[in-house]
Amino acid sequence: MQVKIASHYGFCFGVKRAIEIAQNYESSYTMGPLIHNKKEIDRLHKEHNVGLYENIDDVKNGDTVIIRTHGIPRDQLKTLRQQDAKIINATCPFVTTPQQIVKKISQEGYSILLFGDENHPEVKGVKSYAHDQNDIHVVLDLDQLKKIKFKYDKIATVAQTTRKKEQYLELVNYLILRNKEVRVFNTICDATFENQDATRDLSKQVDIMIVIGGKNSSNTKQLLHIAQENCYDSYLIEDETELEKSWFFGKNLCGITAGASTPDWIIQKVVKKIETL
Ligand code: SF4
Repeated sequence: MQVKIASHYGFCFGVKRAIEIAQNYESSYTMGPLIHNKKEIDRLHKEHNVGLYENIDDVKNGDTVIIRTHGIPRDQLKTLRQQDAKIINATCPFVTTPQQIVKKISQEGYSILLFGDENHPEVKGVKSYAHDQNDIHVVLDLDQLKKIKFKYDKIATVAQTTRKKEQYLELVNYLILRNKEVRVFNTICDATFENQDATRDLSKQVDIMIVIGGKNSSNTKQLLHIAQENCYDSYLIEDETELEKSWFFGKNLCGITAGASTPDWIIQKVVKKIETL
């Protein structure tokens, strides 16, 4: 079996950076899962004694607490400071940017539109930086936007880093036609899209596609969906133990891609096993 790996796959810059930071702080804790990959979190625990706090109340005085890639809400950060914890910030700089924009612009008399999923930790964090919590509005589509009553006719917009630019533009166009001033901040990160484009290209060339990543990771599921559009035999696995020999009968070329939270060591194990089939 021949194997071809996508030109962009796996860890993005923000995830790589967060893991490097965590590895440098033995016996620390992350506030919430550092990334969406349980196996990598287990490895950090085993090799570097990096623990996991799910709840801010679990933090004890003097703990070293690492803030995850998606960031945390402002009030949680304040609580950590009050608890005298040593805070190590591993928030991706591309997530810190919309937090700072919201903080600044909401004090300058702008109503804020935040394009994203209000249940996502990144969005909760960004939203928490608004001066007026009643005048920052989180929407996922145009229908939701149409129902919003902004306080001012000066609107600033930011987006969750993983949203699609085309959908963001749709919201921005709607606002521009109806308001005196619209300030648009492009806070979308290209990393996810580079992995998606590479998956699309590769899935057109191969007989079978293997997508590696957490089954609860939305960006990994998105990669599977894209692969399936071009390659009927596309499978999502978390590691090499889930590979089934029968998938490969009659196939010659296998494409491989991986979600943004999938570490290289898992990908290499999968490649090795497939090459022996
Ligand atoms: S996808 Fe982009 S914004 Fe999110 S952690 Fe990776 S580099 Fe940062």
